[in-house]
Amino acid sequence: MSTYDVVVVGGRVAGASTALLLARAGLSVALVDRGQRGSDTLSTHALMRAGVLQLSRWGVLDDLRAAGTPAVRRTVFHHADGEDLAVTIRPRGAVDALYAPRRHLLDRLLVEAAEDAGVHVLHEATVTSLRRDPDGRVTGVVGRTSTGARVDLAAGLTVGADGIRSRVAEQVGATTTWRGRTSSAVLYRYVDDPGADAYEWTYGAGAAAGVIPTDDGASCVFVSTTPIRMRRLRRLGVERAVAELLAAAGPAAVERVRDLPPVSSVRGWAGVPGFVRRSSGPGWALVGDAGYFKDPITSHGITDALRDAELLATEVLAAHRGDLAEEAALARYQQTRERLSRRLLDTTERVAAYDWDAPGIRTLLLRLSAAMADEVEHLESLAPAGAAS
Ligand SMILES: Cc1cc2nc3c(=O)[nH]c(=O)nc-3n(C[C@H](O)[C@H](O)[C@H](O)COP(=O)(O)OP(=O)(O)OC[C@H]3O[C@@H](n4cnc5c(N)ncnc54)[C@H](O)[C@@H]3O)c2cc1C
Repeated sequence: MSTYDVVVVGGRVAGASTALLLARAGLSVALVDRGQRGSDTLSTHALMRAGVLQLSRWGVLDDLRAAGTPAVRRTVFHHADGEDLAVTIRPRGAVDALYAPRRHLLDRLLVEAAEDAGVHVLHEATVTSLRRDPDGRVTGVVGRTSTGARVDLAAGLTVGADGIRSRVAEQVGATTTWRGRTSSAVLYRYVDDPGADAYEWTYGAGAAAGVIPTDDGASCVFVSTTPIRMRRLRRLGVERAVAELLAAAGPAAVERVRDLPPVSSVRGWAGVPGFVRRSSGPGWALVGDAGYFKDPITSHGITDALRDAELLATEVLAAHRGDLAEEAALARYQQTRERLSRRLLDTTERVAAYDWDAPGIRTLLLRLSAAMADEVEHLESLAPAGAAS
């Protein structure tokens, strides 16, 4: 058995970032993920300004640029009443543009930065249960590697960054404090689209579509709608479903992707309503989708994870230094997360209802934009913790 200050379960955006920040502050950290190092995951990957800001504050943005991820300099909104709105991404501070790296790249860069900071990284190892002391406090994790070796890690704090079906949340019995009612079903694929430099979002008749410029001269094209409508359309075949939803989103979406050759097959997400879970208890905390999941239609889950990794790490470090009792520190993490997330969550819930008209979706998007501005302001006000030493 090995002993650490913190063991993090789940090594993608939420987990790798949390591990990175804690290790840079001097804690001993283990990071365990059942997946392969550098693997992809089911997700599109548009980052919002707060997410890019975090990567820049931690010194990871330069790695992303060096890997060739293209800068996104505009966002264009197309609406069903024919009104288009193009917004230029204003450079501010170290954020010169937005970026939408493929997850196999972003997650790998974060894991490598964590490893450079001294994190012990263990891939292809599945956590199956939690260790506990006689008082019931969580004291680490137990699991197995893909070759069958036992994993037994003791830790002062166990962080569940293991996604929406979090094993850590299940094992600690984390209660759901809010549950959404709406959700998006999504289809996406990659197309050859060199030189693209704008996020393009199109909102039409109960459907949305988007184009997200990414690595290797490709763009990710997605369509989304309600799960019921998606199930009906998918019976016609996936290509037909994509075509019908592009048409429903509007002519701008159809025109934009018409001549772009696909370079991948179509991937699908059936839809899961959002939720907020109680995210801490004796010896444990949840971060990323494990603790708070929001429908992907507003493209904000990765940005949330990068934000919340730092909110959590800040409070874990406060408790570690003895500035605050663990319970109070972790409660403060949840309160800050809730404060920054409430409007994003409520607005996303309404966008994912797909019952808006053009003025309605414009109002929701303005609300989202205001919530995102608050989030950026909060992160800009933080001390430059987490910069590479
Ligand atoms: C269709 C779709 C499109 C999306 N598009 C966007 C977008 O454009 N922009 C955006 O910001 N967000 C988007 N999101 C949301 C985003 O994907 C998530 O919010 C983000 O992946 C959350 O990161 P995470 O690190 O919390 O969890 P995850 O990425 O889910 O990572 C969890 C990790 O935990 C590991 N794990 C799980 N259980 C165990 C276990 N028992 N033992 C060991 N390891 C374990 C898994 O292998 C996984 O690697 C989208 C989501 C979907 C579904």
